[in-house]
Amino acid sequence: MNHRQVDPESGEGRVGDVDVVIAGGGPAGCAVAAALAELGLSVLLVDAGVDRHKQLAGELLHPTGVRDLRALGFGDVVDAWQSQPVRGFAVRFQAPARTLILPYGSGVTGLSLDHATLTNSLLESVARRPGVTLLGRARVTAVEHNDARGVRLRFSQQGIEHTLHARLLVAADGRASPVRRMLGIAEHHARISTMLGVTVDSACLTHPGHGHQFVGGPLHVLAYAIQPGVARVMVDLPLGSTAQTLKGHPELLHTLPSGLKAEVWRALEEGPAPRMASNDDWLAETVWVESAVLVGDAAACCHPLTASGMASCFHDARALQEALRRHPGPVHRALEHYARERRPAQRTRVALASALYSAFARHDEGMRALRQGLLHYWEHSPRGARASMALLSSEEPRMRVMTREYLRVVGHALIAMLSPQAQAGRLRSAAPLLRASGPPLRDAVASAVEQMGSWLHRRVRRPVYRLARAGWASPRRAFASSR
Ligand SMILES: Cc1cc2nc3c(=O)[nH]c(=O)nc-3n(C[C@H](O)[C@H](O)[C@H](O)COP(=O)(O)OP(=O)(O)OC[C@H]3O[C@@H](n4cnc5c(N)ncnc54)[C@H](O)[C@@H]3O)c2cc1C
Repeated sequence: MNHRQVDPESGEGRVGDVDVVIAGGGPAGCAVAAALAELGLSVLLVDAGVDRHKQLAGELLHPTGVRDLRALGFGDVVDAWQSQPVRGFAVRFQAPARTLILPYGSGVTGLSLDHATLTNSLLESVARRPGVTLLGRARVTAVEHNDARGVRLRFSQQGIEHTLHARLLVAADGRASPVRRMLGIAEHHARISTMLGVTVDSACLTHPGHGHQFVGGPLHVLAYAIQPGVARVMVDLPLGSTAQTLKGHPELLHTLPSGLKAEVWRALEEGPAPRMASNDDWLAETVWVESAVLVGDAAACCHPLTASGMASCFHDARALQEALRRHPGPVHRALEHYARERRPAQRTRVALASALYSAFARHDEGMRALRQGLLHYWEHSPRGARASMALLSSEEPRMRVMTREYLRVVGHALIAMLSPQAQAGRLRSAAPLLRASGPPLRDAVASAVEQMGSWLHRRVRRPVYRLARAGWASPRRAFASSR
């Protein structure tokens, strides 16, 4: 596979064919490379090489993600990290001022560490695997042809363009995925907010060993330790904000405990320039087309408050591996299987991030009431707190469980309104609360309908279609298969 030749006249390169080309060497690309090399496939990992030290991105990994990384053979990398253990989330509400712990299930821990260390060590490790060839500082520039037999694509490295044929192309090139566009896959994109990140002394975090969420104040804030003595603080600002926005309005940090507030302020005044990122929803209309497939953020990306992005990348890698193991024949069978298997969990993850962001950060009457419901629910139900954390960490992927938990929170919000401590007139919030519950419940119904459709397709339509092709049933009654 390392056989690369450059035509002296055209200056173009030709690379020996491979089974799989992966565009992007981030968490998703590394995990997929490991998963597919384990199946005995030859893998070319093409990575543009963004500077991870400048990025504000994934640093907290839930237990599901740790488990999947170990299953993909990265156990030695995980053990070598100087990561910080994470036992769950500590959610601090502003009014009334109270902190509630959402623990993971018993005996499991997540971890957190600096993004560059995490991603670079995965890339170095996977590049050493038999069957994997890493092309660093290289970029996929065009998909020239894509059909059921494979893809022909172009990539550039050091100013030289190469062409290459592969049986499968995996787009793991992040949320703005240029390869997704080259494949002509439609996308839904919505910008949500701007994230500002600084590092502070981790001694000012009130609940060591937990991811901290500060909710209900002027700004939503996330914080967790990323190495001994150092914590990352991420402040969710309105779209288009800069560090100056925060410096000009110190009252926006009013949600934070005084020690943490002073540390963030010190970092803004004296520390290196804060890291910035935009928080976006990017959802691909389909995750596969012919012999190409999307994984990780290229397939779906949502607001990072649930810290589920990397766990989702590793889950995608395992799902793709399993699909190719089950369907070693034509690639489209495996990709169809992959798309079907990952979709319910993705729908739940994206819907949850959206519902939770509204509940944590919005200030309308309905969302204020919902926050009271969350506080009341978690305070009165340890089981509810664990169930919420299972959903947050993608341990629990079922939409109907999310719907059930959401309805319980709404019920607790109504109970909180009726309590003797509730302020006079609180009951007026009931109508906005019920109206705000509409979108999450609509998502749940849409998901249930889609799953029924998918079940119908597998159990009824596809067998009828096959019979029709074999001449056993009337073609008119057969249904075309769909993606
Ligand atoms: C502010 C913020 C905080 C976050 N916090 C968390 C968290 O705590 N926990 C968590 O799990 N997730 C978190 N996430 C999400 C997490 O960072 C992403 O889910 C994860 O990085 C996605 O990995 P990926 O491999 O799909 O994409 P990326 O990490 O974006 O990697 C894409 C790779 O593709 C390469 N590339 C791009 N174009 C090309 C091309 N044409 N050819 C070849 N290579 C190309 C790039 O160089 C890059 O290496 C956070 C995200 C943000 C924005």
